[in-house]
Amino acid sequence: MTRLQSEGKCIFCNETFSDKGIGRHLTTHLKKMEKEQPSSNQAFHLKVSAGEMFLHLLVDGNTKFREIDGFLRAIWLECCGHLSSFQIKKKRYNIRWGGGGDFGEKMSSKISTVLEKGMQIDYRYDFGSTTPLDIKVVNVYSLKVKKGVTLLSRNEPLPILCDICKQEPAVVICSICIYEEASMFCEDCAKKHEQTCPDFEDYAASDVVNSPRMGVCGYEGGTIDTERDGVWKK
Ligand SMILES: [Zn+2]
Ligand SMILES: [Zn+2]
Ligand SMILES: [Zn+2]
Ligand SMILES: [Zn+2]
Repeated sequence: MTRLQSEGKCIFCNETFSDKGIGRHLTTHLKKMEKEQPSSNQAFHLKVSAGEMFLHLLVDGNTKFREIDGFLRAIWLECCGHLSSFQIKKKRYNIRWGGGGDFGEKMSSKISTVLEKGMQIDYRYDFGSTTPLDIKVVNVYSLKVKKGVTLLSRNEPLPILCDICKQEPAVVICSICIYEEASMFCEDCAKKHEQTCPDFEDYAASDVVNSPRMGVCGYEGGTIDTERDGVWKK
């Protein structure tokens, strides 16, 4: 697949930037805020990415990993309560935490006791049909922020076109055929696919949503920020 144009809006000024530009842009706001209202409280700017999709989060240092897990599930992931885990890349003990057993760091650990600027975390949702996410600690600020997780930006719905006609926005995925061939369809092409694919008619039709979990395990979209969770409009 060719790389899709990915862009996001800034929560502070509502301007739109490219995937690359939005991180730098948010940094200028956050640095200014830190200068104007310094605090002993720590706040973490995290970038979560999956292919062309991204989330920029501002997270209070007292937040627990479990709460970040909950946020990611609500916006991008939750289908039927699968296990999930965090793992810090290249850290010597290189262990995962979350899901069943906790070792060392725990889901109940506060992020300020674990995270440092530049750290990369490998997050996984569902150890069967896994949706992996990369989390990067972009920066750490001395800043008083809202409790928990604040969404600073996310990619707007990607311009995904129908794999058949290549003209109209794709609105539905065949979650079975996608393993064999490109299977994202516009409404008209979906009707045609229905005639040749009994699975699609029965259960395999899955909505295109603004999440890396789309088309997997019957995922039908998030429960927060739902207005940006739809399909791309031409
Ligand atoms: Zn801005
Ligand atoms: Zn599921
Ligand atoms: Zn089509
Ligand atoms: Zn199919």
